[in-house]
Amino acid sequence: MTSDPATRAAHAGSPREIGAPSATAIQLGSFNLSAGDPSGLPYAYGRGGNPTWEALEAALGELESARATTFASGLAASFALLMALAKTHRRLVLANDCYYGTRKQAEMLGAYGIELVLTDHADFAAVERELARGPSILWSESPTNPRLCIHDLRRLGTIAKRHASPFVVDNTTATAALQRPLDLGADAVITSLTKAASGHSDVLLGSVTTRDEALHTSVRDWRYNAGAIPGPFEAWLVLRGLKTLPLRIEKQSSNALALAGLLAKHPRVEVVHHPSLGARDLAESQMSGGFGPLVSFEVRGGAAAADRVVAAARVIRPGTSFGGVESSWERRARWAGETAPPGLIRLSAGIEALRDLEADLRAALEAD
Ligand SMILES: *Cc1c(COP(=O)(O)O)cnc(C)c1O
Repeated sequence: MTSDPATRAAHAGSPREIGAPSATAIQLGSFNLSAGDPSGLPYAYGRGGNPTWEALEAALGELESARATTFASGLAASFALLMALAKTHRRLVLANDCYYGTRKQAEMLGAYGIELVLTDHADFAAVERELARGPSILWSESPTNPRLCIHDLRRLGTIAKRHASPFVVDNTTATAALQRPLDLGADAVITSLTKAASGHSDVLLGSVTTRDEALHTSVRDWRYNAGAIPGPFEAWLVLRGLKTLPLRIEKQSSNALALAGLLAKHPRVEVVHHPSLGARDLAESQMSGGFGPLVSFEVRGGAAAADRVVAAARVIRPGTSFGGVESSWERRARWAGETAPPGLIRLSAGIEALRDLEADLRAALEAD
């Protein structure tokens, strides 16, 4: 099949055989009938496999030229991947501006022998020093959530290789449509499919993708034995969403880019965080087709002013999560444990007409 992501996404995971239905079936059932030795029967018990997950995994695998394993959520995927790698690598070197849920999970695992190290992944000497201290996993994210820092994945991959450290990238904000970390040196990618990959704010799911067969097997073992399997209907929703991912993310990226420009010129805005500002060349060298749906910014007046801006919108919806077809936003630091500045608003651009979003954003910023 052609290598264009739009074509692959539209067809991936759909049947092609003569006589097959045009759409993937939602296969329910907790077990398949069996008798005798069940070892050759992949669906003998439903925790071991399901044809609807497998259709989604085939599609995800095709987008990244890799093997995919899906989970009940993004954090369930992170957990299984971390457990698979921590058998031999107990230190986890995370970016200090990573998604706070990843950090929280690692902190909880401190009691079970995981040593969490937070560093600036733009400081290569610091990363190098940490990896030299003992068997470590290098776990990066780019663009980061919510500050949208761009980390140099090729460079980090080279450093990880030098220290025989597995290199993991959380690709949730970009998705496989805009960035393929496995091509840039990552050993494994985790994606929260809850966000732009599924795109309709109606499902939670996550995936691990890798080209390392032993790691793939180990991640599958963790899924089977820890049990955080996806539901067949949820997998079907994500497969359906994935088909329009390239189309959606192109529009979301161009809307976010234009809104970043508007925000950067607005007198009520103090700082704008977007891959097009500051790290544009690096972002373009490792992403293609856009910078993703997110733009973060800080308004003058701190938390209270930011809350008023969020409340004043008539189109952009208030709420957490991101990547859906409808634009949404929130003041990030309202969540306990989030380290973003108090007045930082994370805006997720949807697929609406740009002029409606611009008008809504201007009106919200100028409401008081
Ligand atoms: C949301 C998110 C996750 C966790 O995904 P869930 O599906 O909510 O479990 C992980 N990484 C990043 C960057 C996220 O934004």
